Amino acid sequence: MIAGIDLGGTQVRVALARSDGRITATARARTPLLKTPERVVEWAAAQIEKHSGREKVRSLAIGAPGPIDTRRGVLVNPPNLPGWRNVPLTALLEQAVGCPAYLENDANLAGLGEYHQGAGRGAVNLVYVTWSTGVGGALILGGRLYSGSHGSAGEIGHTVVDPDGPLDGCGQRGCIEVFCGGRQLAAQTGESTSELFEAASKGDLEARMIVNRAATYMGIGLINLTNLVDPDVIVMGGGITRSWKVVEPVLTATLRGSPFIKPNRRPRLRRARLGDRGGLVGAVEWARHNL
Ligand SMILES: [Zn+2]
Repeated sequence: MIAGIDLGGTQVRVALARSDGRITATARARTPLLKTPERVVEWAAAQIEKHSGREKVRSLAIGAPGPIDTRRGVLVNPPNLPGWRNVPLTALLEQAVGCPAYLENDANLAGLGEYHQGAGRGAVNLVYVTWSTGVGGALILGGRLYSGSHGSAGEIGHTVVDPDGPLDGCGQRGCIEVFCGGRQLAAQTGESTSELFEAASKGDLEARMIVNRAATYMGIGLINLTNLVDPDVIVMGGGITRSWKVVEPVLTATLRGSPFIKPNRRPRLRRARLGDRGGLVGAVEWARHNL
């Protein structure tokens, strides 16, 4: 058997699966209630033991919010997990579960999940973009997760689309996230992102203008990605999937507006299908890949 874990700021989930990736059991708990990294590992190991029966778990992968050090298996200081500083997560898990453990960025694993079992099925070169509070992504090229030289590939949110744009928390000016990130939109409008998108879908003019502007910047980001990677499919995930009707036409129109990207090489744009299960499915797939 293999196992996947999806660790987030609000909840942590575990899945047990057959070596073909078929999930046989899942469990979830609230991360803040477990409090410390040690107790999260303890809880996850107990779930894995309980649901694997007498069978041995041979590979385990965990997705976590960045920044992480994938090579050493360490969570550096994720803003969504206060108190988790330099946690040697794979070492703790290997000790508790007794099998090799692999750590990956949660957006990368969500992309991998969509590639294997969601909207990215059948793609050869897939770009996955998650658009929620922040903007992240994953590159799956030739069927393999491409994580770069330092595990930082796919940082789509911090590609620059306007060098004179506003300053982002990352220190750069005019990156995608500063124009599109839910946190920044909320700061500009005083509304939560879901309120903003809901107002836009109901036809509120001001909300629609703000959303159109954000989606246009995202569309420019997709033009850049298309020119760089030449994907056959782009999957959009995250909170934005709930506002797909408002956002998709703007993204498509912006992509089509590029005279350089001819129709025969225009990627198909799809909405993510796995919702918040993507990260867990991707963790199982990453465990399988490393088997
Ligand atoms: Zn940035």
